[in-house]
Amino acid sequence: MAKHILITGGVSSSLGKGITAASLGRLMKARGLRVTLQKLDPYVNVDPGTMNPFEHGEVFVTEDGGETDLDLGHYERFVDTNLRRDSSVSTGQIYSTVIAKERRGDYLGRTVQVIPHVTDEIKSRILALADDTDVVITEVGGTVGDIEGLPFLEAIRQLRYDVGRENICYVHVALVPFIGPTGELKTKPAQHSVRELRSIGIQPDAVVCRSDRPLSAELKRKIALLSDVDLEGVVSAHDAASIYAVPLLLREEGLDDFIVQRIGLDATVAPDLVDWAAMVNRAIHPDDVVRIALVGKYTSLPDAYLSVVEALGHAGVKHGVDVEIDWVSSDDLVDQLTAERTLASEHGVLVPGGFGVRGIEGKIAAARLARQRHIPYLGICLGLQVAVVEFARHVLGLSEANSSEFQPETPDPVVHLMADQHSVVDKGGTMRLGTYPCRIVPGTTAAAAYGEPVVYERHRHRWEVNNRYRSRLEAAGMRICGLSPDERLVEMIELTDHPWYVGSQFHPEFQSRPNRPQPLFDGFVAAARDRMLAQAGRLPDPATMQELSA
Ligand code: GLN
Repeated sequence: MAKHILITGGVSSSLGKGITAASLGRLMKARGLRVTLQKLDPYVNVDPGTMNPFEHGEVFVTEDGGETDLDLGHYERFVDTNLRRDSSVSTGQIYSTVIAKERRGDYLGRTVQVIPHVTDEIKSRILALADDTDVVITEVGGTVGDIEGLPFLEAIRQLRYDVGRENICYVHVALVPFIGPTGELKTKPAQHSVRELRSIGIQPDAVVCRSDRPLSAELKRKIALLSDVDLEGVVSAHDAASIYAVPLLLREEGLDDFIVQRIGLDATVAPDLVDWAAMVNRAIHPDDVVRIALVGKYTSLPDAYLSVVEALGHAGVKHGVDVEIDWVSSDDLVDQLTAERTLASEHGVLVPGGFGVRGIEGKIAAARLARQRHIPYLGICLGLQVAVVEFARHVLGLSEANSSEFQPETPDPVVHLMADQHSVVDKGGTMRLGTYPCRIVPGTTAAAAYGEPVVYERHRHRWEVNNRYRSRLEAAGMRICGLSPDERLVEMIELTDHPWYVGSQFHPEFQSRPNRPQPLFDGFVAAARDRMLAQAGRLPDPATMQELSA
């Protein structure tokens, strides 16, 4: 029988509930347990696929093509596991299912109600993950007290009766703010949020206190007493130098020991965190700094590109460098001169995925500058598409080349809608989504990065490179280095006359892990590091070398 850990949050959103859930997942896995994780999101959208990244952050794509909450990315990275779309549940999904059942007549004439029908559906989603696993960690999105979260909290309250008190542990993450003028950490908000949770019938077993500094023993005692929680169940989760240090921090605080005892798992085996701790140590003690310009549309909300940021960091850990991101708004790159001024001194340029025409010319300018100045370039999905448009315009001389996403009437649609997308009307869940194989062309930069002939990566797009232009692109020096096995879809491009310039139609960021960087990020950051070393006179610059030998 699987054990359940339920995570709720109080006082404020963006507290790091997702990191707490992911860290507990790592600690359980490090004990040799099989772990799976799940996020319950109270919003009414069926999935975040249709939501503005500016509001909700990145859409994380699972291998089975689910468009899910970004916390699943944390879960996958911390636990090193591939989750499926059923690990991301929303009110929209629950209601769609309940209403479909009602229409089929499954409820046999009964009045369909939030309790029990909606709560039963929520519980069935949690229990569906409990096969073939030792621990299910379920995070409830939002904050205790939100109206839309109530059915989820009621469902997890009832779950105690379904699985038995001894098999479930409630962990509440609450903010303990530092109030400047009095120079103190304040426990009142956390106490209030525990009281709110208890008022709906959930008594937490543990309280994880998020603060900017460690909590004193006295404050922990106070929270324990007033929340009716065991003293060992009150732990300090203060700000850490790296999010990947949080499992180590919670371990030091004894949270995993407390939880395994509470749910009757073997508490005598200590988690094996040797490799993890070594990785964290490398992450917080880099030798050098590499600067990467990330040219996107949502640069004031880094969460919109969360997996890209994390993947850059993972590659940095491997190469002993801190990857500092310069957020460049594509709207600001109004012409080539501005692109030159903004980007020329960067060690690498990354254009991530995106939708819609805004900022597109700035991204094209960035791809062009990286090509001309021999700056390492990684183009992801839209970042590949703008590289192709740029190359068509300025190398092939097709001055009006474009993607038909941005200019439907362009005479040269070098990027066009995939054949199976023409008939698509609904926006939700209808892109080319999830994992597909890609055959890598031997002898290319891509082949050097991957070291494997066939790779599997996750996709999320509707447009693709137009095959009509393939031979012209190739003849002019843009190599098609990755293809779908039937050779009908261009999956990767690169430049022959460039130290490192690669674009992928898929999203390599989703499969990167802190202790196993994704190969394209690995190669890109290594090339950026070489440029940094060359600029510092510590290594011959491959770009300069190439220019000299040309
Ligand atoms: N908008 C482009 C497409 O749909 C790129 C998508 C993306 O970057 N994820 O093909």
